[in-house]
Amino acid sequence: MTFVQQHEGKWCQGPSHEMPVYLPRTEEFFYFYRSGPKQGKPHGWCKVCHTWNGMYNRKCVPCSKIYEYVMELVYRCGTRVEAAKYAGIGVSTIFKITNYGQCTVQVPTARKLLQALDRRRREDRAAGQVHPSLLEVRRQQEDTEKRIERNTLYRPRTPPTFQSQPPSHYFEE
Ligand SMILES: [Zn+2]
Repeated sequence: MTFVQQHEGKWCQGPSHEMPVYLPRTEEFFYFYRSGPKQGKPHGWCKVCHTWNGMYNRKCVPCSKIYEYVMELVYRCGTRVEAAKYAGIGVSTIFKITNYGQCTVQVPTARKLLQALDRRRREDRAAGQVHPSLLEVRRQQEDTEKRIERNTLYRPRTPPTFQSQPPSHYFEE
């Protein structure tokens, strides 16, 4: 099997995959424990599967729960019509999900969409390409993340630079 891998991977056997999948062990796909004995380790299920938590026995799923994944599918497919075709659901349904936050869809529909995203991600990875519109979104997200990091992470750690001598109490801690 020729499978080019940039990252160490991890299997997910969660409910959004038709069969267990091997995913890059990155923040894009997994939540990581922030504290406690498992700090730094990824959760057992991937992010998409986490949206299924507590939804097994429901008849309907709130659109807000799957919105971000449906949008990713739309970006990867190019248009909402293409995304609906790809997922095998009605075009009006995908418009409903992406237009209104306060709606619900039937569980089988949500499942089709999440499985379609899963399939599409694997296809895109295998082909080594993603749709330009998704790349653009990624780039914007990265810019935002970098800005946030700069503002929250790095700035407080950098001691302020003084033109003259710092006030004498500055290093007293
Ligand atoms: Zn999963």
